[in-house]
Amino acid sequence: EWERKVIHSGSPNRNDNALTVLVTGAAGFVGTHVSLALKKRGDGVVGLDNFNSYYEVSLKRARQELLNKHGVFVVEGDINDKFLIESLFDVVQFTHVMHLAAQAGVRYAMQNPQSYIHSNIAGLVNIFEVCKATNPQPAIVWASSSSVYGLNTKVPFSEADRTDQPASLYAATKKAGEEIAHTYNHIYGLSITGLRFFTVYGPWGRPDMAYFSFTRDILKGKPISIYSGAGGKDLARDFTYIDDIVKGCVASLDTAEKSTGSGGKKSGPAMLRVFNLGNTSPVTVPTLVDILEKYLKVKAKRETIKMPRNGDVPFTHANISSAELQLHYKPVTNLDTGLKKFVKWYLSYYGDSSNRKLWPGNNEQTL
Ligand code: NAD
Repeated sequence: EWERKVIHSGSPNRNDNALTVLVTGAAGFVGTHVSLALKKRGDGVVGLDNFNSYYEVSLKRARQELLNKHGVFVVEGDINDKFLIESLFDVVQFTHVMHLAAQAGVRYAMQNPQSYIHSNIAGLVNIFEVCKATNPQPAIVWASSSSVYGLNTKVPFSEADRTDQPASLYAATKKAGEEIAHTYNHIYGLSITGLRFFTVYGPWGRPDMAYFSFTRDILKGKPISIYSGAGGKDLARDFTYIDDIVKGCVASLDTAEKSTGSGGKKSGPAMLRVFNLGNTSPVTVPTLVDILEKYLKVKAKRETIKMPRNGDVPFTHANISSAELQLHYKPVTNLDTGLKKFVKWYLSYYGDSSNRKLWPGNNEQTL
């Protein structure tokens, strides 16, 4: 039964050069949107997710329901489960792996450092190991993060800029992932593309992120804490709308070359790429709140705290010229339009009273 579902979900609905993609973290925010986009254009898609309780599991289940409705089956399991992933590769010949499963969040790491090592390092290595041993090897596209730029203050961030000052363990594990990717490309000829996402937001988003938890708290009449960076300067993020990110992910899969399986010794070097996927227009946190107030039609109770918090970087700003050139990536949604769509989704999903049983929330939200 399990096998039948996996085979069905992994079968493309077109017979030209459709892809067959294993999407890890498929019940996550980005994973859900990418899986739907691939399925809609006729690719074969199988999801994998461990449905962990880092944030409300009911939201992951609701995304899974949505995926199911569109013919995407999500296998429940951990990216560290080698036997499980090998079994998936036994029943479906994946041409690509879209690896999005990870432990996200910058402050959660202070209490839960091991979960970052488990998912973002050990899990990543396990995915690479299975791909390396598969014949033919799939091409891999995986999510790194803009957080690798850390305390770098030279903006906008270009891919070649320094990434040796991570401000959180999360950032450090993403940076480590990029170096691990280099070795698997170099030694085993795996085709690997790393995508540095810049603060992704939108419908079906992540409740631990500031735009989402602010929305919840504003509607509840609860005060929201707005922290600053050093010197009391407003924090700013290059907020990027989910549909733009999805286009960048799909273009990365489409342009990934095949793995060469030999680390360049027999059939030429395999592809190794890193791209910024951002929006190129940072917005400060107080302005983010202004926009939310406008669409929620409720005034926020702002608690402005003129102090930096551990883990936060002062600002992010992407230079996307490389993705523009090679992926034809062009973000088209500004924060105002994107938040309008998010609020519309939020109100339809939770209702405006936030009555649904919710993840309790905390002050650990990630920007
Ligand atoms: P998300 O937490 O919504 O999605 C990740 C999914 O992976 C979750 O559903 C989780 O249950 C699953 N998962 C975690 N560990 C797993 C494991 N060990 N085995 C199997 N499944 C596991 O996060 P997202 O926002 O969709 O992020 C997707 C990817 O993009 C992540 O790698 C994240 O680090 C990266 N990223 C996201 C953003 C952003 O702003 N959303 C920014 C930069 C990078």
